[in-house]
Amino acid sequence: MDTLLRTHSSFEFLHPLNRFAGNLTNLCSSKSQIHEPRLSPKKSHSKSGRGGCVKASSSALLELVPEIKKENLDFELPLYDPSRGLVVDLVVVGGGPSGLAVAQQVSDAGLTVCSIDPSPKLIWPNNYGVWVDEFEAMDLLDCLDTTWSSAVVYIDENSTKNLGRPYGRVNRKQLKSKMLKKCIANGVKFHQAKVIKVIHEELKSLLICNDGVTIQATLVLDATGFSRSLVQYDKPYNPGYQVAYGILAEVEEHPFDVDKMLFMDWRDSHLKNNPEIKDRNSKIPTFLYAMPFSSNRIFLEETSLVARPGLQFEDIQERMVCRLKHLGIKVKSIEEDERCVIPMGGPLPVLPQRVLGIGGTAGMVHPSTGYMVARTLAAAPIVAKSIIQYLSSEKMVAGTDLSAGIWRDLWPIERRRQREFFCFGMDILLKLDLEGTRRFFDAFFDLEPRYWHGFLSSRLFLPELLTFGLSLFGHASNTCRIEIMAKGTLPLATMINNLVQDRE
Ligand SMILES: Cc1cc2nc3c(=O)[nH]c(=O)nc-3n(C[C@H](O)[C@H](O)[C@H](O)COP(=O)(O)OP(=O)(O)OC[C@H]3O[C@@H](n4cnc5c(N)ncnc54)[C@H](O)[C@@H]3O)c2cc1C
Repeated sequence: MDTLLRTHSSFEFLHPLNRFAGNLTNLCSSKSQIHEPRLSPKKSHSKSGRGGCVKASSSALLELVPEIKKENLDFELPLYDPSRGLVVDLVVVGGGPSGLAVAQQVSDAGLTVCSIDPSPKLIWPNNYGVWVDEFEAMDLLDCLDTTWSSAVVYIDENSTKNLGRPYGRVNRKQLKSKMLKKCIANGVKFHQAKVIKVIHEELKSLLICNDGVTIQATLVLDATGFSRSLVQYDKPYNPGYQVAYGILAEVEEHPFDVDKMLFMDWRDSHLKNNPEIKDRNSKIPTFLYAMPFSSNRIFLEETSLVARPGLQFEDIQERMVCRLKHLGIKVKSIEEDERCVIPMGGPLPVLPQRVLGIGGTAGMVHPSTGYMVARTLAAAPIVAKSIIQYLSSEKMVAGTDLSAGIWRDLWPIERRRQREFFCFGMDILLKLDLEGTRRFFDAFFDLEPRYWHGFLSSRLFLPELLTFGLSLFGHASNTCRIEIMAKGTLPLATMINNLVQDRE
């Protein structure tokens, strides 16, 4: 463990989530994904390259130093030519899944699009997991590199749930390549830089980049992830944080079924000889999430579902090391590691506003789960269609009026109400200790699949969510019901108040 900690210089930065909760409110860092300009100047550099792993000594559990190597896609990107001074229809700031999905679809309608990102060819760093049915609905099955026919949840030592819902790992390289190819074919231009400022005029906006280039556009879409670079917020930002530490590792062996992914393992017997960590874990629990690729290659991630302030990485790693030892998992080498901080819940951005948003920057992460990829990829066509419609309209709408209609399509009242309910869910989860969390998920995964599938995949809207809530209550043990009533009353009142205040 000591060795592991020493090898990651960026931990210094990542530990003090608590200390910097105020000024790091926008933080979502994976190993190599720290977004400026709102963040601390230090960067995380722990993304290691596939194939660039360093062998561990056999005696140490995790004596591995993932090599710092970023992998780029082999594409010639058509570049934006600043000397021509063109006003493009849309500038998309940020080339993550959200930004590229919209760029691709808006350009498909013949509109001019420029995509700005500091590393436009870089393969996305996060290890994305999704439910297979979500990707199937979007015809993206070719962008999953591994699928598992089922997923499993260990509630405790005695209770296991077989979820029977196929799960997949996103092939980041394939998904990004596919999107880039379409963007290139549609004439999207790329600019490698960071946007530092936007100046709005009546009919266009000027985007000032950190390389001195200014790009003019009729519409600006902020897709900068959790850094929330351009979109404005007018309420205090108080999210919960999902914090996780993951490794893609070669191991001697592991005890998991390779046909099932491990969605949550809430067992804590690995802490029985460590009362101090056990006590911490019983107050703010972490679970193991694992994707077994073969008998000796596995992605393992110790995860704090949600906490405010977020747990520290050191704490999570300590728990992970105890767990792996208890499970008899001997790590031989680490291909890549992942540090994950996902802000969950909190307020939505100002609705509407001149700059458009999608993805992390626009409050689209699921407040109770931290998932977002499938939801944003499904929302991209809605945003794109709206942009195309407004820009092609003969009504000559411009400026904030133009953006207002598009924001309405991204966050219609039913989606805002849905999010409010999910925030209510997050507020309850924040208050549950290990035993409470186990009782909660015991009832949750006993629900009819349409309920828990729908909840996790943002497919239920308010009326169904209320039935979902009643059904959950019905399935819960008496202790769980009392707990939900005791801990959920205040969040329920907050939710009702917010629902009443937020009118069309
Ligand atoms: C480690 C990790 C693991 C995750 N795993 C999952 C998962 O398994 N399943 C799931 O559904 N969700 C997951 N999420 C949540 C979410 O889906 C991801 O964060 C997703 O990458 C968000 O996509 P995005 O396009 O909104 O932003 P990002 O992917 O963060 O992309 C934003 C882009 O904007 C660029 N950028 C930032 N600032 C500027 C600027 N000023 N100018 C120009 N460009 C800028 C960045 O360089 C980056 O390329 C995970 C998140 C993290 C951090």
